[in-house]
Formats: sequence, structure tokens, C-alpha cells
Amino acid sequence: MMMVIRGEDLKRIIKAAENSRIEVCGMLFGRGSGERIEVEEVRFIPNRLNSAEGFEMEPLEMVKAIDDAEAMGLQVVGIFHSHLKCPPRPSGRDLKGMNLWPVVWLIVDDMGNYGAYVLEGDKIREVKVKIV
Ligand SMILES: [Zn+2]
Repeated sequence: MMMVIRGEDLKRIIKAAENSRIEVCGMLFGRGSGERIEVEEVRFIPNRLNSAEGFEMEPLEMVKAIDDAEAMGLQVVGIFHSHLKCPPRPSGRDLKGMNLWPVVWLIVDDMGNYGAYVLEGDKIREVKVKIV
């Protein structure tokens, strides 16, 4: 599986992660399904846990973001968040979230590393990130 994202969009997420003391998070909107998705729109959502060790997206902001995206003909293709001082791999907590939101999960750290994953059944599968 492959996720196509613009370099400037990925950079924006990484920059936000580097400049934040808490996990940053948000949604990825775009097109496609199955083996290839394309990210068209990155939307940051406030982390209501205000935590360096976890995130929860502010529900009202999520609804607003989804409405805006749908108005543009886009769908939710992914969720992103950052890890501070730990590698960009899904945590146990993330796994629960991945069950609720079975889309691609893009995780960045505060050192410019990133990875994308999707849950298939109970297995985590790495998603190739193609930067355009
Ligand atoms: Zn996480």
C-alpha cells in the first residue's frame, strides 16, 4: 500500500512536531482507496489531552474538518500525530485508535523521522510514503 503526500505537507507536519511540547495531531484528506491513496489536504486538530505522551483530537474540530473536506469532495484517508522522544511507530494506545479509525496512520517524531501504518485485522502493515 502506498500513500502519496506533497513534500511541503509532510514538512509542515514535521515542523509542527519539532516546535511543539505536546503531540500534534490532525487529519489527512484526499482521494483513493485500496492500494493507493493521495493526500490533498492536511488539517491540524487541537490535541485535547495536551500531552507529550498521547493525543485525542478535539471532536468538534474533527467534525468541522470532515465537513470542510466533504464540501471539497475529499474523504478521510489518514490520521497523523507526532511522537516526542520515541520512534514514529504505533504505540499500544495508537493501536486502539487504529481500531476505531481504520485509515492510514502517519506518525512523525520530533527529529524528522516518519512512518505510515495501517491495521489489517490485528496486524500492523507499513505503508509506503511517496513524496511528490
Ligand atoms: Zn502515537
